Amino acid sequence: MLKVFNTVSLKKEEFVPINPGKVMMYVCGPTVYNYIHIGNARSSIAFDTIRRYLTYRGYDVNFVSNFTDVDDKIINRAQEEAVSEQEIAEKYIKAFYDDTLPLNILPATTRTKATDVIPDIIAFISDLVDKGYAYESHGDVYFRVRKSKDYGLLAHEAIDDLEVGASGRLDEHALELKEDPLDFALWKNEPRSVIKWDSPWGQGRPGWHIECSVMSTKYLADTIDIHGGGIDLVFPHHTDEIAQSEAHTGKQFVHYWLHNGFVNVNDEKMSKSLGNFTTVRDLLNSYDDPMTIRYLMAATHYRRPINYSTAELARSRVELDRIRTAYRRLQKADKTAGKDSVIEKKLSKSVADFITAMDDDFNVANALAAIFDLVKLTNSYVDSADIKDQTAANILKQLSQLMSVLGISGLGNDTILPKKIQDLLAQRKTARANKDWSQSDELRDQIAESGYEVRDDSNGQQVHKI
Ligand SMILES: [Zn+2]
Repeated sequence: MLKVFNTVSLKKEEFVPINPGKVMMYVCGPTVYNYIHIGNARSSIAFDTIRRYLTYRGYDVNFVSNFTDVDDKIINRAQEEAVSEQEIAEKYIKAFYDDTLPLNILPATTRTKATDVIPDIIAFISDLVDKGYAYESHGDVYFRVRKSKDYGLLAHEAIDDLEVGASGRLDEHALELKEDPLDFALWKNEPRSVIKWDSPWGQGRPGWHIECSVMSTKYLADTIDIHGGGIDLVFPHHTDEIAQSEAHTGKQFVHYWLHNGFVNVNDEKMSKSLGNFTTVRDLLNSYDDPMTIRYLMAATHYRRPINYSTAELARSRVELDRIRTAYRRLQKADKTAGKDSVIEKKLSKSVADFITAMDDDFNVANALAAIFDLVKLTNSYVDSADIKDQTAANILKQLSQLMSVLGISGLGNDTILPKKIQDLLAQRKTARANKDWSQSDELRDQIAESGYEVRDDSNGQQVHKI
């Protein structure tokens, strides 16, 4: 039985989808004004892993996400670079796809830009105004927070405690326009913005929170199964999404709220001011194995903080290489026809342990323990006298399937080795085929100088990072 930790109840709850066998899932996407940083990647990987596991468990997952392409940050960036807001958004949407593809983040079933749903946003806001939940003020439209019941439930804060926090962030001008400091903007009269739309309240642009409510109801349903995002989105973003959506539809907005933890860099919070702000692009350019980056992110439970450092990356590489090495050893081992029922039974146990772990709010640490049991089994099977082809094929299939739930692909693929090492190995293979042992030894030393150890066994050259 799958259980998920719901931020509303602060408990693990049995996951029961609205439509049997189907999952409607919405995850807040990035504001496209810059290259994504490793915090964005962490959130994308956390929910991609959850999505992959739901799919693995047989659910048909409809995964919707957004690009926030109209926002103060985009307006500022466009003015800095003297280009249009649309150009900024297009550039960074392309960059998002370029940067998430190597990390094996699956494309959303539907991913839309805020600017694609402006008529829907205007209709949604108009309905809130008609129902008395929202009001116009000098071309802005605000949501009347005190009219909403259970506001602050998700954040586990009393409304007046939230108000103190909110008013601290508000400028004087916005405060003058609002009936209550806690009210939030649904529509903004934004003279600085190049892109603006006609609306019943004059020309302007939508606020941030409204786009997610609109997309979630438009592309999924009034009530959906899972809504996800970073823990920093609980208030105000998700709190406001609930208020406006439930005011609009009169129904519960989301059954399960899931939030991922932060990324720390060298045990410090990642921030621009600390100078430890790492973009995914820089990381991918400076590190040769994107699957290790994915592994580092996916191997930490989604609710826990991730500590990113080069030491953690190196540790992840060692772990992932253990899995890859076992996989390749079995792949290359000599086999005889048949099946080994004792090994098959142990294999089934590892798979069952993996499922039990992931069913417990996606407990990836325990899931990896099951995978490493399977790695141990694989290695001891390779060392045994008689390897059966059907059992070997089953192990390889299961290992690759379980790793692909974590978003790791290409276990049997040698190309993750740096190009230089691959070239040296190819030369060494030729030298050995020609029985040129001194050349072979020289190449082995060169490989060692680059940080890899090569050994020869019946399956050929086995390479390990030193
Ligand atoms: Zn959102």
